[in-house]
Amino acid sequence: MDIHGQVAQRHRDAVLRALRDGRARTRSELSRELHIARSTISEILSSLIDEGSVLPTTRLHPAKAGRGRPAEVLTLDPAAGHCIGLDFSHHRVVAVIVNATREIIATRSTTYAQPDTWPARTQAAIALIAEMADRHGIHYRSLQVIAVGLPGPNSIAWAPEGRLPEGVDQDFRRVGRAITHDFTDHFGVPTVVDHHIRFAALAESTWDRPRPLDNLIYLRLSKGVGGAIITGGSIARGAHATAGELGHVVVDHSDAARECRCGRRGCLETLVSIDGILATAADHGGDYTDLASLGTAIAHDDAAAVAALDSAARQVGVVLGLASLLIDPAEIVLAGECSTLAPDFSERVQRHMTSATLPYGPRPTVRAATFHGQAGAIGAALAAIQAHHRALWTRPKG
Ligand SMILES: [Zn+2]
Repeated sequence: MDIHGQVAQRHRDAVLRALRDGRARTRSELSRELHIARSTISEILSSLIDEGSVLPTTRLHPAKAGRGRPAEVLTLDPAAGHCIGLDFSHHRVVAVIVNATREIIATRSTTYAQPDTWPARTQAAIALIAEMADRHGIHYRSLQVIAVGLPGPNSIAWAPEGRLPEGVDQDFRRVGRAITHDFTDHFGVPTVVDHHIRFAALAESTWDRPRPLDNLIYLRLSKGVGGAIITGGSIARGAHATAGELGHVVVDHSDAARECRCGRRGCLETLVSIDGILATAADHGGDYTDLASLGTAIAHDDAAAVAALDSAARQVGVVLGLASLLIDPAEIVLAGECSTLAPDFSERVQRHMTSATLPYGPRPTVRAATFHGQAGAIGAALAAIQAHHRALWTRPKG
């Protein structure tokens, strides 16, 4: 998109954002509120009315009521455009349906039936959407875009038994293509597929905020360690779709560095994933069978458990400090089971970050994730809305 296209897109986003509060406004009111020229506002609204997203109605303007001159006011039509976000995680698929005002109409999930193959998962998701649409009276005609989150190309989901095979990203692409085909075929709407951690980051940067955060780092510490980066208002994908893979920054260069499933040694993931933290606790003489028992030991101030927690916070802090030098985020969001081991985990990470980033100037806020199991699906729904708006804006006229 050229610079004029980008400015037009920003203006259009601003109009949609303003109308999302449900209040009707005249063109002049929108122009004053958004500091956008009246002629530009009229142009944007014409296209939104044409596409059916905005409803023009008339009201008597209070100031002019005595003179009886009606003014045209505009509101978003909540029933005009439904978008769907889906998140395929390890055991289940979560679906979120939103309307044009970004209101969540329905959220549901279903676990996979056996056999747990990708075609079976896709069918489970299609049945889930049909059930939700039926229950909430949503006609497929109002569907605009579906966005589907999958485990990323480097995810442990593609190699549950261990090391990632050469060309594992081909699995991600192949499944993504099949899902795109099946959903587009079944629902007759464009389908967008991406890494579900990127969608979760979008939920954290955008959902329920008057303005989205333009710069954010999202790090999930779970069975694997996955990251996503939002920079300049966009999700970073990179040239090979691997941007944000912070779990594979090598932080341990010692001879004792643990082997990573990517084939190298000493990656962040080997230290701060569930198995990584349990192994560190064992190195300190702790004997914990799972994350829950480690969490209990941390709450009881068990020395080995606290040492493992602090070591994880230090390693995460070092990598996030480096990442902050690259993109200068406003916020850093920590998600996943390991980030909830102790209530002060974010503060510990923030303390350790200071040695790895510039010693002056404003620092990013490090915080726990707001959304948990639904982050990927909510973010996917947001991405679907964005894709819908972009498509409308770039659609040739006539
Ligand atoms: Zn690795």
